[in-house]
Amino acid sequence: MIYDVVIVGGGPAGATAAEDLARKGHTVAMLDRAGRIKPCGGAIPPRAVADFDIPEDQLVARISTARMISPTARSVDIPIENGYVGMVDREHFDEFLRVRAKKAGVHRYTGTFLRIDREDGSTKVVYRDKVSRNTLELETKLIIGADGARSDVARAEVPGGDTIPYVIAYHEIIEAPTGPSAYDPTRCDVIYDGAISPDFYGWVFPHGKSASVGMGTGIDGIDLKEATRSLRENAGLSGCETIRKEGAPIPLKPLDKWDNGRDVVLAGDAAGVVAPSSGEGIYYAMEGGRQAANAAMACLASGRVKDLGLARKAFLKQHGTVFRVLGAMQDAYYKSDERRERFVSLCHDIDVQRLTFEAYMNKKLVRARPMAHLKIGLKNAAHLLRLIPAVRT
Ligand SMILES: Cc1cc2nc3c(=O)[nH]c(=O)nc-3n(C[C@H](O)[C@H](O)[C@H](O)COP(=O)(O)OP(=O)(O)OC[C@H]3O[C@@H](n4cnc5c(N)ncnc54)[C@H](O)[C@@H]3O)c2cc1C
Repeated sequence: MIYDVVIVGGGPAGATAAEDLARKGHTVAMLDRAGRIKPCGGAIPPRAVADFDIPEDQLVARISTARMISPTARSVDIPIENGYVGMVDREHFDEFLRVRAKKAGVHRYTGTFLRIDREDGSTKVVYRDKVSRNTLELETKLIIGADGARSDVARAEVPGGDTIPYVIAYHEIIEAPTGPSAYDPTRCDVIYDGAISPDFYGWVFPHGKSASVGMGTGIDGIDLKEATRSLRENAGLSGCETIRKEGAPIPLKPLDKWDNGRDVVLAGDAAGVVAPSSGEGIYYAMEGGRQAANAAMACLASGRVKDLGLARKAFLKQHGTVFRVLGAMQDAYYKSDERRERFVSLCHDIDVQRLTFEAYMNKKLVRARPMAHLKIGLKNAAHLLRLIPAVRT
């Protein structure tokens, strides 16, 4: 058979694209190599739960407070108003999405993508089957590349796909403390400290019975394991049993083009789409998968390959401003401990708390309070120009 779309990768981006296409009546194959749990903190906003119908039983923890910790160990607790941040366990969450896609009519294949062959007007995705180890083919009209960071599809097909900048994130999944301790299973800790990460941040994210403790950096030569050991010690988590140790790249910049102008469109980490500052990628991968599916449907209906470009256009229309603001924040505040200290000071401001969390929770920059925006803008400028002290007194 000739599929309408073959999707390479069955993570949040690929599984969402596959399900959306199948629900609209298209013939869809989803190829995933399987066998590895995606290293991930697992934090998702309420907007993800609502937009992608994520059932409550997929949430292994509900977070009601975010604690920002500065280089001098000062902390600001930000209450999460009107809801909570949900935590998913990628071992079960990704498989849930793939099973849901299959129930919608998607054909699932397990194997490793090798290449795309084009011959005599036919396009084939060539892969190595996981069980038989045979090289097999899936004939298709279009391809969605959703095979994550360092995507083979992006490298082979889309200009710039081989040069996306990354931070490497490393974390340890540990057993959550059960006795009395400073650990709170409903609180996420975000650690801004150059000794843990000189250019990103460290975190403690509860996952019910376990927790993810880790950090990211784009600087070569940083000892990620040593930084995480130190983070665990500072957080009083050294004695907890370690379940897994793992790392993976987080892309830092969306590609300028997500399609190859012919028959391929990218989604999620493969397109470099992770929010600057936070490294949040699950919601944006699902949203990118949805936009890639919409663009593929438009292209199949019109026969115009330029419609594949609609994926990036629609995504950036909705999320481009938030990405720009978060990018500017990362550039301004993740540079030095002095700047990080100022950033945590800024987080004391109730308007900063509301605006940043509303943007995170609902994926919208609220425009309803111009005076609050003005005040934040002035405070921000005062910090960057060092007109006020780094440490709030
Ligand atoms: C340590 C760490 C912590 C993070 N924490 C968070 C967080 O708390 N919240 C958040 O929102 N984001 C977080 N992220 C980012 C988030 O994990 C990613 O942005 C998200 O998983 C991207 O989804 P995706 O579907 O694009 O790619 P992936 O989830 O990477 O899925 C890609 C899929 O493609 C498959 N695949 C890859 N290559 C091939 C191949 N050659 N052939 C066949 N299949 C293939 C893989 O098996 C995988 O299933 C974190 C990332 C890291 C590394």
